[in-house]
Amino acid sequence: MIDQSSLFISAGICAAALALTMLSVWLHNRDDRFLIGWTAGMLLLGCGVILYSVMPPDNMAIVATAFTMEVVGFVIVFVAARQFTGSQTSLLQVSALLLTVVPVTLPILLGFDGLGIMIYNFLAGGFLAATAGQYWNARSEAPSSMAVLCLLYMLAALSFFACGTILMHEAEWIMGARPDNWAEHFNAIMCIVGITGIGALSLGLNHARAARRHRLEARTDMLTGLLNRRALFDSMATQDLRPGHAIIAFDLDGFKAINDRHGHAAGDAVLRCFSDAVRMNLRDGDIAARTGGEEFVLVLRDASFKLATSTAERIRAIFAENEVATAKGPLSGTASAGVALVENNGESFEEVLHRADTSLYRAKAGGRNRVVAELQAVA
Ligand code: GH3
Ligand code: MG
Ligand code: MG
Repeated sequence: MIDQSSLFISAGICAAALALTMLSVWLHNRDDRFLIGWTAGMLLLGCGVILYSVMPPDNMAIVATAFTMEVVGFVIVFVAARQFTGSQTSLLQVSALLLTVVPVTLPILLGFDGLGIMIYNFLAGGFLAATAGQYWNARSEAPSSMAVLCLLYMLAALSFFACGTILMHEAEWIMGARPDNWAEHFNAIMCIVGITGIGALSLGLNHARAARRHRLEARTDMLTGLLNRRALFDSMATQDLRPGHAIIAFDLDGFKAINDRHGHAAGDAVLRCFSDAVRMNLRDGDIAARTGGEEFVLVLRDASFKLATSTAERIRAIFAENEVATAKGPLSGTASAGVALVENNGESFEEVLHRADTSLYRAKAGGRNRVVAELQAVA
């Protein structure tokens, strides 16, 4: 059978190896800052456990250093979990968490290593349970992976609580030796299992999140945050249009002149201003996309002729009223719109969009800054 020190050294090597894996993933994707926290936390945990396992256990300075590394490591892993699940931790909160190192190291430095190690075990269990809690609260993102992650953190927490409980029961406050009992074995094995499983699951979750982010970025128009042309055509390709759907095509008026007179940045601000007006008037289930430079398309569901034209008219009016601040003073723009309604089942998106574009062309020809709905729909 493997002795306890070898088990702990293995756990330490596992933690260090995983930390390096996380670091290499972070080097390729530096936005995932939680990986840096995880790397630092795991390195400290791994080095701390190796230090404690190979150095003489009666050297209190070394023992205190090893347990300081452990407590700081658990704090960082907890903070990294908060970061991953979208909670901010202030510097004050981190400092308060780091102060928990005092009740562990102080007794050790005073020679009461048994007492310090017992307090450490309860503290480590607490941090692990709190980390599990963070993932549990965020489980809707990936229910099964997050649940297994919580389970692993909780099992590791339980193994630390078991070690603390046995030390408390034995009440041997001055030991000068490493604790050696069944709970310590269970703890060492849980650390190896936990670190490996938690590492793989955390990397998987991070990877899935990055893939989701990339998919979203590929569908989003970066300037306005609306869907881009590809996303609009993709989503319309997978759903049937039926009577009750309406399409509005917008085109900003004289936009080239705005760019020429006020500069491209001011033009961009006007585009964002228009998309804000669009967003204010969208209902759940409606789709809005920027399909070209200053061209936008809206798809409304369950929209009557009246609702579609009044929505287009409201967006036009809000946009005409709103001003964008530029270096040369406030600037506003106008837009023209063409509205078309789906008339028959089985009409293609392209057909209806073409009819909306024809109405838009008439709005431009009629003097701009207006909404025109196609004649058939009016009849
Ligand atoms: P009309 O009233 O007939 O629609 O005239 P217009 O000037 O709006 O139309 P035109 O098609 O001549 O000009 C569109 C301009 O949009 C030309 C291009 O420089 C500008 N544009 C395209 N994409 C962007 C962008 O992302 N940002 C900015 N600022 N301008 C853009
Ligand atoms: Mg245009
Ligand atoms: Mg235009």
